[in-house]
Amino acid sequence: MLSVTDIMTCEFCPRKLFLTKVLKWKVPEKAVMVRGSVIHKVFEETADCEKELVQAIRADTDKETIENEYRLAYVDAAKQAILSQEERLGKFNLRPEEILDSVKIAVEQEAADRAKNTLALIGSDQVFGAELWNLVTPKILPEKRIESESLGVRGIVDRIELYKEKTVPVEIKSGASPREGAWPNHKLQLVAYSLLMKEEYENVADHGFVRYLNEYPPRKIIFNPFMELEMKKLIEKSKDIAGSTEPPAHIKDNKKCDMCEFNQDCYDTGFIRTEVEKLMDNP
Ligand code: SF4
Repeated sequence: MLSVTDIMTCEFCPRKLFLTKVLKWKVPEKAVMVRGSVIHKVFEETADCEKELVQAIRADTDKETIENEYRLAYVDAAKQAILSQEERLGKFNLRPEEILDSVKIAVEQEAADRAKNTLALIGSDQVFGAELWNLVTPKILPEKRIESESLGVRGIVDRIELYKEKTVPVEIKSGASPREGAWPNHKLQLVAYSLLMKEEYENVADHGFVRYLNEYPPRKIIFNPFMELEMKKLIEKSKDIAGSTEPPAHIKDNKKCDMCEFNQDCYDTGFIRTEVEKLMDNP
């Protein structure tokens, strides 16, 4: 079964998918990857701390206390998440304080949003504790594993938001945002998750969000049949490459090759041929 990461690798460069999937070349871990993964951990931990926080709210808890509790709990969850990855960060000379600084505003925005949501429920329903938590929508499912037998693809959605009437995928991106909307590959990745989610949820929304850390609010992306078709074609193309022993041609995009981890060996056609022959001798 392919992963959404494999499909997006194919979108970046079909030959790179061949190198990783067929020849099993490993992409070496880089500082930017570790930073991104720690930031995802931050949003996973902040989402996980909300239940306890809401269940502790009583009838005499005032608005300022609730807002403050949210902010403190979310920032603390972020700190703990970052510190739990200190060793990994250290390998790339990334300092936990620098990571916290870069996510703090986004974490506080998230806390303020969720506090506002909870306060609105208290205002309208006058419920507290566990009963209040039951009413909170959307519930946030962070880092949700999902797979589709029919598509033959699996993946981990950064966040699924569960509303009563709809289920919405959200991607969290630590890089810079475009002036509007989302970068094409981010839109496509979101479409992939929405397709996968359709096998598990009946009410997948016709849209999703890309949450760029340097931007607020998250960017809404409306799906359309052409995007789904493009993704389905990309999945088929990825499967063909993953099942082949013929490396696709080099892409004609110097910028991509310059940033690619395989740019030395990938152009050594003799070496690639030997690798393929080895593979055919020992399938
Ligand atoms: S070096 Fe260029 S052609 Fe080779 S895998 Fe990387 S992006 Fe693709």
